Amino acid sequence: KPSSRITGIIPSGRDGWELHFAAMNRKQAGEPVIMLSVGDHDFDTPTETVEACVEAVRGGFHHYTQLPGIPGLRAAMAKVSTEATGVPTSVDQVIATPGGQAALYSAVQAVLDPGTHAIVVAPYYATYPGTFRAAGADFTVVETHAETGFQPQPATIEAAVRENTRAILINTPNNPTGAIYSRKSLEGIADICRRHDLWLLSDEVYWTLGGGGHVSPRSLPGMAERTLVINSMSKSHGMTGWRIGWLAGPAELIRLAIDLNLVTTYGLTDFVSRAATQALENRFGVAEIAARYDARRKTFLAEMAGLNRITVRGSEGGMYVMLDVRNVEPDCEAFAWALLDAEKVAVMPGSSFGDAAAGHIRISLCQPEPVLADAAARLKRFVANYR
Ligand code: PLP
Repeated sequence: KPSSRITGIIPSGRDGWELHFAAMNRKQAGEPVIMLSVGDHDFDTPTETVEACVEAVRGGFHHYTQLPGIPGLRAAMAKVSTEATGVPTSVDQVIATPGGQAALYSAVQAVLDPGTHAIVVAPYYATYPGTFRAAGADFTVVETHAETGFQPQPATIEAAVRENTRAILINTPNNPTGAIYSRKSLEGIADICRRHDLWLLSDEVYWTLGGGGHVSPRSLPGMAERTLVINSMSKSHGMTGWRIGWLAGPAELIRLAIDLNLVTTYGLTDFVSRAATQALENRFGVAEIAARYDARRKTFLAEMAGLNRITVRGSEGGMYVMLDVRNVEPDCEAFAWALLDAEKVAVMPGSSFGDAAAGHIRISLCQPEPVLADAAARLKRFVANYR
């Protein structure tokens, strides 16, 4: 009999992915579909990183690596964590993982026992519920609201704390809303964590795409010892397919993550680790990628400014723009499918990210500016002609 703990961790059904794959099929069949439904870059990994990898492959770096990460990589990650979170971070406070997802999985496993409880702030990244279920943990979804720019409300979060609550999971800059959680919101969450003795799991994989506005809650008073930061080179360094990320936090939890990874990943790819070390040390592509998303966001939002039936929500950082379409069509799935049929623009219905984002569509800025301008024109025409 298959494991009942794993069976059903990813519920099936008509969700945003169905639309994404349908759009991809139509595009492959030759339809001029603009794909704005996925959080992956349209551009390749920076050449310097690719070259560093080729050199490492040619140089014979083909072997098993130290489990927490090769020493240079771990040191580079600790240094970046120090800079990104403002907290001095030693190498024993980081573990390299195959992507941010594996860092998230390790973090959840390290702090939650079966039957314990976590709070997740919504809208959230699609894998969060499955990650909690895989740990046998229960979770409560606490909504944020479009009208308040998808900022978390500490009082609502605190109301969800139970006797067996162990952790709160947040993501800033946020996928899907593009909201950057304010220092005030984060201070409120930190206060709850300190008073109720909770771990804070802080997914910061978009930390470089915040236009300077990103605050890591790890830097707040008393939080370094109770925060695990999920990080990744996927978005910041243009390395989605390389599968490289890391977890930073208290050494006692990192030790657990190392034990867990011994029985799951058994370490990272050698040549990828070498290239990633160089990319982190030299910030390959980081400023360029951040500037590119900033310009794309501005271009797209400028196009949306004159549309009176569409309201921009969140959309301050990360790779996404969130549009409130309720004045056009309350059912965002219906909106997204109709937009694909009529104008061949693929977007994610907000409902695939939890109830708080229902009535919205998520636009991924993963296309060059002229394509985004074309998509904006199609969207405007669609809204003008709708019903
Ligand atoms: N966290 C968030 C909020 C994401 O959007 C993603 C990917 O889209 C991830 C984590 C996982 O990223 P990766 O495993 O590529 O590092």
